[in-house]
Amino acid sequence: MVVRLREPTIPITEVEQSAFCQTDEELKSRTLLEEFEVGVRWQKLPTGYMRIEPEELGRRIQEARAALDRRLVILGHHYQRDEVIRFADFRGDSFKLSQFAARQEDAEYVIFCGVHFMAETASILGGPERRVILPNLMAGCSMADMAHADDVLDCWDDLTDALGEGAVTPITYMNSTADIKAMCGRNGGIVCTSSNASATYRWALDKGGKILFLPDQHLGRNTGLKMGIGLDEMIVWNPFKPMGGHTEEDLRRAKVILWQGHCSVHTRFTVAQIEEARRRYPDVHVVVHPECVMEVVREADSDGSTEFIKKSIEDAPAGTVWAVGTEISLVNRIAAENPDKTVFCLDSVVCPCATMYRIHPAYLLWVLDGLNEGVVVNEISVDPEIAGYARVALDRMLSVV
Ligand code: SF4
Repeated sequence: MVVRLREPTIPITEVEQSAFCQTDEELKSRTLLEEFEVGVRWQKLPTGYMRIEPEELGRRIQEARAALDRRLVILGHHYQRDEVIRFADFRGDSFKLSQFAARQEDAEYVIFCGVHFMAETASILGGPERRVILPNLMAGCSMADMAHADDVLDCWDDLTDALGEGAVTPITYMNSTADIKAMCGRNGGIVCTSSNASATYRWALDKGGKILFLPDQHLGRNTGLKMGIGLDEMIVWNPFKPMGGHTEEDLRRAKVILWQGHCSVHTRFTVAQIEEARRRYPDVHVVVHPECVMEVVREADSDGSTEFIKKSIEDAPAGTVWAVGTEISLVNRIAAENPDKTVFCLDSVVCPCATMYRIHPAYLLWVLDGLNEGVVVNEISVDPEIAGYARVALDRMLSVV
């Protein structure tokens, strides 16, 4: 048994989260210099880019992108700011975008306007010949950062010591580092997305034994409940406590072991916000992401991935009212693209995903200028052995859904 004790730390992304939260203004990009003034610690870039006004940035990005033509594809995650996503050749959630990236055979370069684990996944699926660029290397994901490889390997050792080889199948959410995906690939496990988490649970449970679900306890718990697994059969592994805070008996009794991670954006939504939306609009349909806490998912009318949320609203009749529990940039965009419906965010305080927000248009221009000068800035590459095992876990996912 490995005993590790260390102090829990609040990820910087959660501290930073509040810096861009606002209640009364539209979320519009300013110069990077002005955005730095709120005290964020983002990747440094040549100072000339810091002072360029948003309109000028837009014009220069357009020119720089056009010069690269088919040598480049730009991918934009749904949670990106408008000033960035308007340059995306493809929009989608993390998995859909990685699949796009893998299929772009003409493109030498992929600029992934998303967060670090997404760029890693695009690199793994695209293979060594596809050069993937993340415009700001500090654009991580607070949830993915809650599962450090060393802590997860310690947990795995503890589980194996207590329960024996093959007793647990690891499942990791797409929102995890390549190291964690590789750990799953190496140990008979699998990757899942928010759309196919139930199918991967079924696959794992069919093998007999238990599940270790990483890194989002809420998606893991909500999926377990949908599969008929009781709350008393799911325990949370705290990486800051010996044995995750459990006895061997606890581990033997549990069916699902949930890693103690969460999304700082989706855990902001509350049952009180749903009640308030229903008070204001008795006919409202509440749709939330399954990274929200169990109480919110239970209280909502429906829940699903970002693609599910987007499609549900697009397919709904005109005149319907939607309260949405997901990232604000996406909610605002869905509202703008569905003017015949009333669409609003459950949370009245406008808080973007702090790490997605780190892709300021100045970074996009910087990496585009680099490519036009023959310099690849901020390339994301994954160690071939890690990429190989991570690919095993990703391929297993594709084979079961
Ligand atoms: S919304 Fe949550 S899970 Fe998604 S990138 Fe942001 S912090 Fe990570």
